[in-house]
Amino acid sequence: KILENRVAIVTGAGSGIGKEIAIKYAEEGAKVVVSDISEKGANAVVEEIKKKGGEAIFIKADTSKPEDNEALVKQTVAKYGALHIACNNAGIGGPASPVGEYPLDGWEKVIGVNLNGVFYGMRYQIPALQASGGGAIVNVASILGQVGFRNSAAYVAAKHGVVGLTQTAALEYASQNIRINAIGPGFIKTPLLDANLSPEAMNALVGLHPIGRLGESAEVAELALWLSSSKASFVTGSYYNIDGGYLAQ
Ligand code: NAD
Repeated sequence: KILENRVAIVTGAGSGIGKEIAIKYAEEGAKVVVSDISEKGANAVVEEIKKKGGEAIFIKADTSKPEDNEALVKQTVAKYGALHIACNNAGIGGPASPVGEYPLDGWEKVIGVNLNGVFYGMRYQIPALQASGGGAIVNVASILGQVGFRNSAAYVAAKHGVVGLTQTAALEYASQNIRINAIGPGFIKTPLLDANLSPEAMNALVGLHPIGRLGESAEVAELALWLSSSKASFVTGSYYNIDGGYLAQ
């Protein structure tokens, strides 16, 4: 098992991509803190991990609040004695509107979760990783961390921000045994997509992926797992797309 004796936090782990990452981490031996703003899905993920013989707890945290991120790290270290891995995955879609009409409150909300949330996460995770002798952070960006997408200004801006933030933090801590990378999924079949798109819009999205389908959360989790493990020991400051060929066009 490649994450034996590691302690990991996954934010937004009650659903979709985060859920699969939490499950995969646990299967590979990590003690996993399944964190989410909402209890419902997250408790089910903890149960699923335990049923398979893994170790996990739920800690509630809203990643858009600095104090929640601080408490999440503190409670993790209090429970498991260290922190080695953090996956900053929590994210929301936000309103669909062109820039000239974009709702101001929607902008604040999306930037608050999708960009500020990743900064606040790392702000408190990094000192704990240093205290644990090092580790790895995986930030979940998107293909929209690299290109534009109509009617998604806040999301696109936040994800571009996550990529730059990841690179900067990686430079700062590369010599301290802390590797920090970002991943850029294409469109993945999760409740986030269901909540924001009609079935017709979903079909149109399939056509944007040369591989001819949307991605699965479990496929994304494989990349996050690899980056979190010592198999990726020479990888830091990178941004890996996992997108069925979306960005190759
Ligand atoms: P999802 O909606 O299935 O799951 C997101 C989880 O995050 C939910 O459990 C939700 O409760 C939680 N969450 C929302 N706001 C939170 C907050 N403030 N604090 C803590 N938890 C919060 O979404 P998903 O599709 O699995 O997305 C996960 C990540 O992957 C997001 O960052 C998203 O932007 C990114 N992503 C998704 C896709 C896609 O197509 N689904 C593509 C690229 C990137």
